[in-house]
Amino acid sequence: MSGQAFEVFTLFPDAVAGFLRGGLIGKALTRELVSVHCTDYREFATDRYRTVDDAPYGGGPGMVMKIEPVVAALEHVTRLRGPMHRILLTPAGPRFDQRVAERLAGVPRIGLLCGRYEGIDDRVREHFVDECLSLGDFVLNGGEVAALAIIEAVARLREGVLGNPDSAARDSFSLGDMSQEACSKEQGAWLEHPHFTRPPEFRGLGVPDVLLGGDHADVARWRREQAWRRTWALRPDLRPQRSLPAGASLYLVAQFGQVRKDMPDRAALLAALGPLAKDAGAELLVVAPGQRPGDAGVPRAASFRSLKDLVRELRRRHGAPPRLVGLGPVPGLPLAAGVGPLLDLLAVSGPGDLSAPMVLLLPCEGTGDLARPDANASQDGSTPSSQPLKGLEAAFSPVIPAARRLASGLAETPSMNDSSGPQPVQEAALLVAVALAELKSCRSTHLSELRHEQQ
Ligand code: SAH
Repeated sequence: MSGQAFEVFTLFPDAVAGFLRGGLIGKALTRELVSVHCTDYREFATDRYRTVDDAPYGGGPGMVMKIEPVVAALEHVTRLRGPMHRILLTPAGPRFDQRVAERLAGVPRIGLLCGRYEGIDDRVREHFVDECLSLGDFVLNGGEVAALAIIEAVARLREGVLGNPDSAARDSFSLGDMSQEACSKEQGAWLEHPHFTRPPEFRGLGVPDVLLGGDHADVARWRREQAWRRTWALRPDLRPQRSLPAGASLYLVAQFGQVRKDMPDRAALLAALGPLAKDAGAELLVVAPGQRPGDAGVPRAASFRSLKDLVRELRRRHGAPPRLVGLGPVPGLPLAAGVGPLLDLLAVSGPGDLSAPMVLLLPCEGTGDLARPDANASQDGSTPSSQPLKGLEAAFSPVIPAARRLASGLAETPSMNDSSGPQPVQEAALLVAVALAELKSCRSTHLSELRHEQQ
């Protein structure tokens, strides 16, 4: 591949060239993967003072860069080295970002026009450039820093510039998909997972154990989850808005442990959950190991002795395995505080898509610790009170303020290990009501229904 050429137009060519000498871009220049020429507008001033600025028409503070030296510089370089894609740097341009960098990485010759003072006579923008770009919503004294930022961001995407070609694909904002599938703009972008290096401990500050364990699959899982967590906490705008397909079946599953003397509570809870599920178009099912069909008013068809039985039944009904989501924090599982993060997590991780039946699993009394079924052994230690929850993919907690804090606070990872524990009737019903309401609100039919209602 022939090198990419940048032409920088500036009043400070030495500053630009000096910066570029170092680092990976400096190496890329030496290896001729990239070339950068700096052209000084002042060389093209025609008066004896080499004037490049003048007072603004209409008055006011500051000076304006004159059009003649700018256009003369552009035309000279075009004659000398060929035409280029001309970019004016201005805070009034569209924002430069990774998508723009990716587009520009495919452009062989790029001209970057740096302004100074109040900017360049606007006729340059109107008639002599192909596009405008801004580095962000702030004002710099000149376009040089913006030009350098663009050169770095674009050149590092060119083949051979980075030592490891995989690096750029994994960086923040890349469209790389966590599930390694083909990616597209609709899939949005991620912030990258955090990085650590030696020493393993500094002033009592450790690094996550999983990174020291040497299990590549565990590390990959941890990194995916961190990227998901960071992006939703810091830049949720990068993620696409997903909806639950109109036809996707939704199940609310109350999961109980062994039957104890608490049957009235159980009946009360189920009585509270029934209408909530119905209202959200979800079916209420019960998993209760020791329960006889018909106990607590649960119809036989809706009652299962184990989660495994229930999953088997749903797989039979739908021809696809359900996606299992715990309600409330579940130790060891990523906690989605809100339906956006939940659907996003389910969409990018694990097999199956969002049209698979979704099971919201509510841990009820006697269930113990959802994610560590071994800890659920009954008093005599013989039979576990619940089946191992293999396949539970995420925890969903739309309402509990602590859960919101956890999901947005990057530093709070350890306290994710709070046990979900048994849910008192009212608390559980509230959790379920809000979770179902959120899911209902993002059914893909919802918008069209709303429009329909408004007509
Ligand atoms: N008066 C102008 C600012 C001029 S700053 C205004 O208010 O819009 C001088 C020069 O710095 C500009 O011509 C432009 O080339 C550069 N510059 C300043 N802020 C920039 C930004 N956010 N992105 C890109 N270039 C910028």
